[in-house]
This record gives sequence, C-alpha cells and structure tokens, in this order.
Amino acid sequence: MKNLHTQSIRELIKLIENRLISAYELTSYFCDRIQTYNSKINAVISFDKDIALDQAKQIDHRITKKKSSPLQGIPILQKDLICSTKFKTTCGSKMLANYQSPFNAHVVNLCDAEGLIEIGKTNMDEFAMGSSNETSYFGNVLNPWEHTRVPGGSSGGAAAAVAAGFAPLATGSDTGGSIRQPSSFCGLTGLKPTYGAVSRNGLIAFASSLDQIGPMAKSAEDCAYLMDVITKKDPKDSTSQQYDMQFVDYLKNDIPPKIKIGIPKELKNFTIDSSVEKAFGETVQSLKGLNVEFVEISLSSMELALPAYYIIAPAECSSNLARYNGALFGYRHEGDNSLQEMYSKTRTEGFGKEVKRRIIIGTFVLSKGFQGQYYQKALSLCHNLKMEFKKIFSICDFILTPTISTPAFEFNAYKNPVEMYQSDLFTIPANLCGLPAISFQAGMHGKLPIGAQLIGNHFKDHELLQLVHHFQKATGWHEIYPEDYQ
Ligand code: GLN
Repeated sequence: MKNLHTQSIRELIKLIENRLISAYELTSYFCDRIQTYNSKINAVISFDKDIALDQAKQIDHRITKKKSSPLQGIPILQKDLICSTKFKTTCGSKMLANYQSPFNAHVVNLCDAEGLIEIGKTNMDEFAMGSSNETSYFGNVLNPWEHTRVPGGSSGGAAAAVAAGFAPLATGSDTGGSIRQPSSFCGLTGLKPTYGAVSRNGLIAFASSLDQIGPMAKSAEDCAYLMDVITKKDPKDSTSQQYDMQFVDYLKNDIPPKIKIGIPKELKNFTIDSSVEKAFGETVQSLKGLNVEFVEISLSSMELALPAYYIIAPAECSSNLARYNGALFGYRHEGDNSLQEMYSKTRTEGFGKEVKRRIIIGTFVLSKGFQGQYYQKALSLCHNLKMEFKKIFSICDFILTPTISTPAFEFNAYKNPVEMYQSDLFTIPANLCGLPAISFQAGMHGKLPIGAQLIGNHFKDHELLQLVHHFQKATGWHEIYPEDYQ
C-alpha cells in the first residue's frame, strides 16, 4: 500500500480494523522510510527493524483475537530522553551515549499497553538544551522542508521524523518550547500539556518544574489520539494528576459559541518576521471564520519570562545533572585518577558546551550570596506572570501568539547563545506557569512552514486541541508535506 505516511491516525486505524493492512505491514512501511531517508536528515538515532517487527507480530497476534485499543499497531517514535528498555536512552549526549535503561518511562508503558509500536528513538539537543538541534552529540538534524535549515529544538529529531513520514506519531518534551518550536519549524501540531497531565517518571530531567512530555503529529486529532493514551495518573510521579477526558471524542463536538481569544498588545514590542506576521494575520481571519471573537489583552510580564526562565531552568539543570559524575552510570573517564579528578574529567569530557554553560549559570545563580539576587527574583517574576495569566483567563479562553518570530533559521545562524535564547520568547511563559499550549501550522513562507501558538488555562488541553482541529478542517494547512518526502 502506498503513501501510508500521508494518512491520518484515524485512517490508519480503519485500515487495521478492516484488516486491509496488518501491524506488521504498517510497521515495515515506516521502517523502510527510515532506512531510505534517515541518512539525509539524521532524525532517528536508535532504530532496529527487528525490534519493531517483533512487536508488530505480537500485536497482529493480539488483533486476530480481538482489537481492544484504537492505537494497536500504530508506530511511534520516542524522544531519546524518555527511558525505554527496547533501545538506548542517550539524551543526545556523550554522557549517556551507551546508556541502556533498565526500566520504561510511564509513558512508554502506557504506549506498550495500548499496542503502539515503538520503532526507534529520535535525535535531540543534548539534555534538551537548545532551540535548533545543533547541540546533539549525534550530529545536527536537518529540516526536511529545506536541508539548509534547522528543524528546531530540542525535539528536532521528533519533528523532522514525523514531517518526513518516518512515523505518524512522536513524543517530545517541552521545558521552554521544545515541542512547539520544532513543530512550528517542521509544519506539525505539537502540544505541551498542562504540567502534571502526563507523568514525568522515566523522562530524564532537565528542569523538573517545567518539563512535560507531549504529542507531536501532523494534526490536532492525531495528537488527541496520543493524549488519550498518555494522560494517566502515575503514583510514581507526585506531580501527576488525573485528567478525566476522552480527547478524541471531545474533538467531535462543535466548538462552543462565544469563544474569546486574547492577543497580547505587547507583541508589537518584539521584532517579528514579516512572513510570521502575515501568517498570524491570516490565522486570526480563519479563526474569526469559526465565529471566534478577539480581544486585546496585556501580558506585560511576557518579556521578563525569558530572563526568569534562563535562571530557573539552568538552576534546576545544575542540580539534576549533578548525578552524571562517572560513578553510577553513563560515561566515565578511565585512568589513574583521584576520585575528584575522575568526577571532573568525566564531566569535562562527557558534556557538550551548551550543557556546561547551563550548569555553570545554574550553579552561580544558586550560590550563596547570589541566590536572592537571581533565583529568588526569577521566582517572583514567575509569580507575577501567573497572576497575570489568571486575570487574562477570566476575560478570555485562549491566548494567540506566534510560536516563534521567524521561520526555521539556517545552521550557525546565532553566534551568541543569548541571541538564540531570545527565540524562546513566546513559548516560555506557558512552561513557567504550567499552562497547556499548542503550536500548529498557520502558513508557509516559500518552502518553509510557519506556526502559531494558542495557550489555554490549566487542564484545557482538550479545548486547545478541539479549536485547532476545527481550524485545520477549515484551512488544511496540516495536509502539506515536504517536497522531497512525499
Ligand atoms: N530552547 C529552550 C532551551 O534551550 C527550551 C528547551 C526545552 O524546552 N527543552 O532551554
């Protein structure tokens, strides 16, 4: 069967249910695409066709008895910081380049129980730190829409892989935009769920108070299928919460009347590429066509979210990454060293430049004498931001912004890391406040897709997906594929 990678999850499910295709054939199809195209874009870093097909055989066997869960037999790629016993879990780092997890992340167990087929792991910025996928120990990922461009980061491998048709679904993780920004650069739909909606157990931590696993796929409906699987409360993650929602079913309803979307007036204070402005304007018009009303709002703390994030995230990462010292697991510098030397050489050799930069910043802002000046201030900025969001959500349902102010940029576009940090401006506020936010394709600029972002109130993930689903039915942006990967 041809062009299975352009089918929606709903269509793939039908093919399996009607016995027009087996899980084995579907899995083979996607594995073949990885084998044919991955060398061009380096999106998948762990892959084994036999491991994938073994799972598919078991699923086919289960299906002959009874097809019990909708996603049985659908292939998925996991981001390589989500622990899985089937493949290595490297975090895109030399430090964990050979790390084999002895356990599955909660999300992986849920996917396995559903009958999803894990066909591999995706490349990423080292320890999820980056916005371009240029910091991976395993090399850059190329954007399938244009190979001279970055796919975004840190879930750049996941985004490039789904855009190139290597799998219909992928997981990403989002600490400051890592699901949404690559989704925008690669023409996908990516949801950062409400903090606590998806268990972080088995997600290798970057900044624990901000990290969240979420779905990346072509459409909001495809994302909803994965949300139905992964939003199950986990007693092993004390921040995990019960989210009683049938996401796919919810999407079938019409959008409620009188939806109000706020547009922050502060957007005009930022430099936004004209291509992004154009797509943004057209998105507003399309949403008006769905009877959505727009209001101007003020999100004055938006600008301060960025510096607050680049204090809080490094602070948490410096603590989380302290465990990689060669003693327990991962890379170890071998030689005739004292214990202290072993620690220090292991960390010097095992971490890349960006990770070291964050650890140093984090250690500094937490150090005695500076904590009050930086870390405590950043926390109070977060508090102000939360208060502002609370007020905004009393007058409107969602907030619309561009996902990022440019289309996918070229490799080495930013010589100074702080310039690249600026690109997370619109995505970071949602993480700092634990809010759900979705990026979806809103237009094209030449060969490159452009995204827009909707932010919702806590546990309104289903409403975000529903609105984007109706937007996609009206506009069809999600149905365009990169030329070389048709
Ligand atoms: N680009 C941001 C950073 O480098 C966000 C990363 C993420 O969400 N994991 O920190």
